[in-house]
Amino acid sequence: MGIFHGVYRRNLRGRIGKIMIKYQQLKMHPGYTMEDVQKKIAQNLHVSRELIKEPEILRESIDARKKPQIFYILSVAFSSDNESALLKKFGKKGEIAPYEKKEVRLPVIDKTSITDRPLVIGAGPAGLFCCYYLAKAGLGPILLERGKCVEERTADVDAFWEKGNLNTESNVQFGEGGAGAFSDGKLNTLNKDPLGYQAKILSLFVEMGADPKILYEQKPHLGTDKLISIVRNLRREIIRLGGEVRFGAKVTDFLIEEKKKIKGVIINDGEKLYAEHIVLAIGHSARDTFQVLERSGFAMEPKAFAVGYRVQHPQKDIDESQYGEENLGKFPPAPYKLTAKAKNGRSVYSFCMCPGGYVVNSSSEENALCINGMSYSDRGGKNANSAIVMSVTPEDFKDKGPLGGMYFQKELERQAYERGKGAIPIQRLEDFIKNRPSKGEGAIKPCMKGRFSFADLRGLLPDELEEAFMDGMEQFGRKIPVFRHKDAIVAGVEARTSSPVRILRDENFQSLSLEGIYPCGEGAGYAGGITSAATDGLRVAIALIEDLSFGGCKRPGKGFRRKQQ
Ligand SMILES: Cc1cc2nc3c(=O)[nH]c(=O)nc-3n(C[C@H](O)[C@H](O)[C@H](O)COP(=O)(O)OP(=O)(O)OC[C@H]3O[C@@H](n4cnc5c(N)ncnc54)[C@H](O)[C@@H]3O)c2cc1C
Repeated sequence: MGIFHGVYRRNLRGRIGKIMIKYQQLKMHPGYTMEDVQKKIAQNLHVSRELIKEPEILRESIDARKKPQIFYILSVAFSSDNESALLKKFGKKGEIAPYEKKEVRLPVIDKTSITDRPLVIGAGPAGLFCCYYLAKAGLGPILLERGKCVEERTADVDAFWEKGNLNTESNVQFGEGGAGAFSDGKLNTLNKDPLGYQAKILSLFVEMGADPKILYEQKPHLGTDKLISIVRNLRREIIRLGGEVRFGAKVTDFLIEEKKKIKGVIINDGEKLYAEHIVLAIGHSARDTFQVLERSGFAMEPKAFAVGYRVQHPQKDIDESQYGEENLGKFPPAPYKLTAKAKNGRSVYSFCMCPGGYVVNSSSEENALCINGMSYSDRGGKNANSAIVMSVTPEDFKDKGPLGGMYFQKELERQAYERGKGAIPIQRLEDFIKNRPSKGEGAIKPCMKGRFSFADLRGLLPDELEEAFMDGMEQFGRKIPVFRHKDAIVAGVEARTSSPVRILRDENFQSLSLEGIYPCGEGAGYAGGITSAATDGLRVAIALIEDLSFGGCKRPGKGFRRKQQ
């Protein structure tokens, strides 16, 4: 019996770990099975297959550096009867190492002492996951969402894309599931996961119906068709656990005691709902609510983000560039990640790349137009698209107040709306560079969700950003030749890459200016993307539960409130 077998270790926040062996950098061919994996590990360690038990893929990535020799690279955990001997023999060479499975546990709370049901504002990934963990802790949270449930919302979004009738409260930004529901559903984040929070979030996605592959794929994605049912299942689970979910419940104002403590909210300019613990997970598009927060004295600051155009190319050409002709069809539609420094010093990079996807009209306001990308779980669309964006900072905003970035976005979106006459304005790359309007499509057919019209995009962005865009496209063409294709489709405007504002909070996740309010997720400026917003929801839930365990908002020794970085 190996010394590690069956040993559990306890550490911070009650995390419990099971010890196994991790095999790293295992090269596998496309179409591999778990049997192949077991056999290959046994072969490499010169042991019998029986010794490699319960193999579990921890990580899978594609190594396409040496085309046409392309492989899956796996990291695999397994248990074995003689772990210590194996670790002794192969551990030193770094082929294998002990592996501890992490489990994050929520703090336990004595519910009898709780008088106050927490409120969660916003049913995007941050609000939904936060609400789920508060419900799981037995706190009976109330989730307030201005938009509709995901089923009804889908009908509104389809009607908008087909006919152009925008519902400003039920659209690609607003409604159950938040901005992420009609998306590519990419779940990867750039953040490290030392505490295992992200892994916990991904496990909950799987519990709610996602493909278990998302637990180990380097670039997991769900696709809109899967996301919609997952969101619905999560809502049902929140209700089963004693939570309450209200749609068409827009928070239009806040009840504040002596300018320092939250007492409740006003819904739809009428109903008052009292609570002393309120999670503010309103997303990056709740501009009317940002204005209410500013008026109510919430500590806020403008935040940098990025703007640009979304470009489309045939997915087949991208696959050929990334995998080589010999490997076409053997691997999933290829993603790309591109960065460049423009001659004028601006950084240009690809953002939210959607293989086999669509460019979508993601607007939420009248007479304003913004776009984003989405795909279905099969990523079966003809084109690949991504936003080619340039960073903007408060220096670029005319208005120097906390909402300067928001007004900067609004102006770009107003222009885009005008240029497309209410439809998504698009242009062929060659016409864009030659500064002439496009009359129609060339060899590349646009893949769009929402009405579109050929137009002239030049001058929509400030000159410096436009220069950087053209320079970036030129440089990207050296890495992926199809980027130079004259018929590549350019669409505008991508303005909501992340929140233009940060709602300041302290290390306990509470607003710097108001006790009892927990700014959370992307809209608060503390997350970017579905998984990172959901993870922030989990962090805020844990902080709120711990606050309640200390009988209120102020934890011992937590008098001094330092801004959270
Ligand atoms: C089209 C599109 C595609 C995307 N694709 C991806 C992707 O593939 N992968 C990825 O990681 N990220 C993607 N994103 C970004 C991702 O969706 C967001 O980062 C994420 O949804 C942020 O989560 P959140 O919960 O903080 O905010 P949101 O998802 O924006 O949710 C906020 C919620 O709050 C509600 N709300 C706002 N104001 C109020 C109020 N006053 N009262 C009550 N409710 C209110 C809104 O209706 C909304 O439902 C995409 C975004 C879009 C728009």
